[in-house]
Amino acid sequence: MSSVCMALVLGTGTATGQPVAGTGDYDALDYTVSLEYRSATKDMDGTTTLRARATQPLSRFALDFAGGKVGKVTVDGRRTRFETRDEKLYVFPRELARGAEFTVTVDYTVTRTNGPDGHGPWREIEDGFAISPQTHETMHHVFPCKNDIADKATYTVNVIAPARLTGVTNGDLVETTQLAGDRTARKYRMAYPMPVDDGQIAVGPYSRMTRSGPDGVTIRDVVPTAQAGQLRETLGRTDDQLRWLTAKLGAYPFGTYGLFAPLGSVGAFESQTMSTIDAATLASGTADYVRVHELNHQWFGASVSPKTLADNWIAEGHAHFYGAWYDAELSHPGSADAFAESMRMFYGMDQHLRDVEGPPAAPKPVSGQTQRANGALALYALRQTVGPQLFEKIERAVVTRFKDGVASTADYIRTAREVSGRDVTALLTDWLYAKKTPPMPGHPDWKSDAVAS
Ligand SMILES: [Zn+2]
Repeated sequence: MSSVCMALVLGTGTATGQPVAGTGDYDALDYTVSLEYRSATKDMDGTTTLRARATQPLSRFALDFAGGKVGKVTVDGRRTRFETRDEKLYVFPRELARGAEFTVTVDYTVTRTNGPDGHGPWREIEDGFAISPQTHETMHHVFPCKNDIADKATYTVNVIAPARLTGVTNGDLVETTQLAGDRTARKYRMAYPMPVDDGQIAVGPYSRMTRSGPDGVTIRDVVPTAQAGQLRETLGRTDDQLRWLTAKLGAYPFGTYGLFAPLGSVGAFESQTMSTIDAATLASGTADYVRVHELNHQWFGASVSPKTLADNWIAEGHAHFYGAWYDAELSHPGSADAFAESMRMFYGMDQHLRDVEGPPAAPKPVSGQTQRANGALALYALRQTVGPQLFEKIERAVVTRFKDGVASTADYIRTAREVSGRDVTALLTDWLYAKKTPPMPGHPDWKSDAVAS
């Protein structure tokens, strides 16, 4: 999104644009999630407490939950009847008035098992696990939640693990407590509203390393303890990447940022304040595109989040645009043409991707590259049309207007029109919705073929 993003060449995501039905009658405000990892079992005991506000009178509401067993549900401290069916947890409280705030607490056991096709969030290591949300609809396999990316909420996540391991999440560590039985509880806080699919939860032999970064940002990296020395130099590249993006988009939207390099193979994706990129990829030292792609998601994805999955080009298109730009400057220092050359290469594939995956803002159910590559081309076409300075002004306006919120494709187009003072509606509508690749402004010689080259 956002958040779900493998490197461009690897990526396939799911984007249906369909809201999740049946849970939309309340606003999720704040979650407290607690999970206990024990070695040698895939079962984890958990508790989720959600504070929410009824948006209509409620005598029944639903959370999304799969892959676990619910033990007990209370609403405002009162034990409450519930049913589980079709990945839903239905709760039957005493009627809640419209506008009433309520708290629902669910005790459950979740089993870290992916579906028969491997589809699911769990990535196991020898003693521990991480989450890799391969689609936007997997977090309800980890804890009961409202699986609606537009309903952002704040989170506290408490991870309990054997003391020799480290429980890790995104957000800020606020408390570490030693528990009986040689266990440690680490409590993390995500104080900015976060989409439900934007979290990371992991346990393993990891070390946290914290230092001061550019512009007062705290850099917090989490790496395998055994590789901490080896990774230190490459981790330091974050400072340059952060400065580069801040110069283009304005202040980093959160107080903390860092990389999480888990053991095992997880690919690459972002969570609020944290990019997960597996240790092997990071150690290879050639992950600059991926790192800037994921870092860009802090602006477009974590802070300004897509309103629906069809709007996800706002996250992926920007991440690819800035990732490719940074990579071009890094590989060809001083060359103004390297970024254009990179865009020209993707332009060559635009028609093929439109045919296979649909246009960036109306993608087919299984897509990913059209939102990334063709979404980036839409931004490039806008920049070619209004010029670099107005383009930067538009981008900064989007980042400011929709900070900590959600933005739709229409929101982006409207902002571009208002800020530039030019009617770019037809241009962007064409690039984002047309079946046929539009001509690239300023590059009449660029060609895009229906057949993959
Ligand atoms: Zn991405």
